[in-house]
Amino acid sequence: MNNDVNATWPKLPVALKKIAIDPTSDDYELMCSNYFVTGRPKLILRATTERDVIASIQYVKKIRESVSHSIPFSFRSGGHGISMASVNDDGIILDISQLNSVTVTDAEQGLVQIQAGAVWGDVAEALRPFNLIISSGDFGDTGVGGLATGGGIGSLVRRLGLTIDHIVSARLVTADGEIRVTDHQKYPDLFWGIRGGNSQLGMVTAFTFKASKLVEEKSDISLPFTVQTIESQT
Ligand SMILES: Cc1cc2nc3c(=O)[nH]c(=O)nc-3n(C[C@H](O)[C@H](O)[C@H](O)COP(=O)(O)OP(=O)(O)OC[C@H]3O[C@@H](n4cnc5c(N)ncnc54)[C@H](O)[C@@H]3O)c2cc1C
Repeated sequence: MNNDVNATWPKLPVALKKIAIDPTSDDYELMCSNYFVTGRPKLILRATTERDVIASIQYVKKIRESVSHSIPFSFRSGGHGISMASVNDDGIILDISQLNSVTVTDAEQGLVQIQAGAVWGDVAEALRPFNLIISSGDFGDTGVGGLATGGGIGSLVRRLGLTIDHIVSARLVTADGEIRVTDHQKYPDLFWGIRGGNSQLGMVTAFTFKASKLVEEKSDISLPFTVQTIESQT
């Protein structure tokens, strides 16, 4: 990429150069759009670690202080947003699609840690061996970051509620560049706000969800397939 993304912006820190994609880069066209809109950002930062997310947010803060006005700054996880919010013209997109691990931390309790760049199809696949499910959307390519900060309505919603109803805690990087872990006890207002507020309060890097359990339904007749049902919630 060009070293000089924008002559009026502070120099890109060395740590961000390795994750920077500008309009001359091969990957630019793949990453400058979401499901409905194509943007023309000056720079895309493709984070591979949470430290990259922090460094990116601090860099944007520095630009805003140095140019004394706002520049467009968008968060992008799965890129299946349906508004302009995850892309922009002339600003910066912070993409976290590579932060996409799904880890069952306690199968008995149904606790699952999911990085926000994962997509829901991969989440379902990772939970399947544990007979766990999370109420999410009905389309496997939608991202965890956007859907789980927006609400999350799918075929399980009548039985289990929205996706945001199953968030136990979240890690996010706020506008000051700090990591905050939030739940019902820690920063409860922040916890309330991220469950519906999308990117307004910071970039969520990972969630802990409480998944629901699938149990085998007993049948008196012999069937060539297994029938499962969702264990009652307590
Ligand atoms: C084909 C298709 C099918 C869909 N099906 C469903 C469905 O069944 N149920 C349903 O509820 N919704 C559905 N949606 C809507 C979809 O869930 C939302 O558009 C969601 O925001 C997409 O998330 P994303 O991470 O893929 O999108 P992105 O484009 O990456 O982001 C969308 C929004 O979320 C914000 N955001 C993204 N990541 C983060 C983050 N880590 N922290 C904070 N904010 C973030 C962005 O800034 C932007 O405002 C569908 C959308 C499409 C295009």
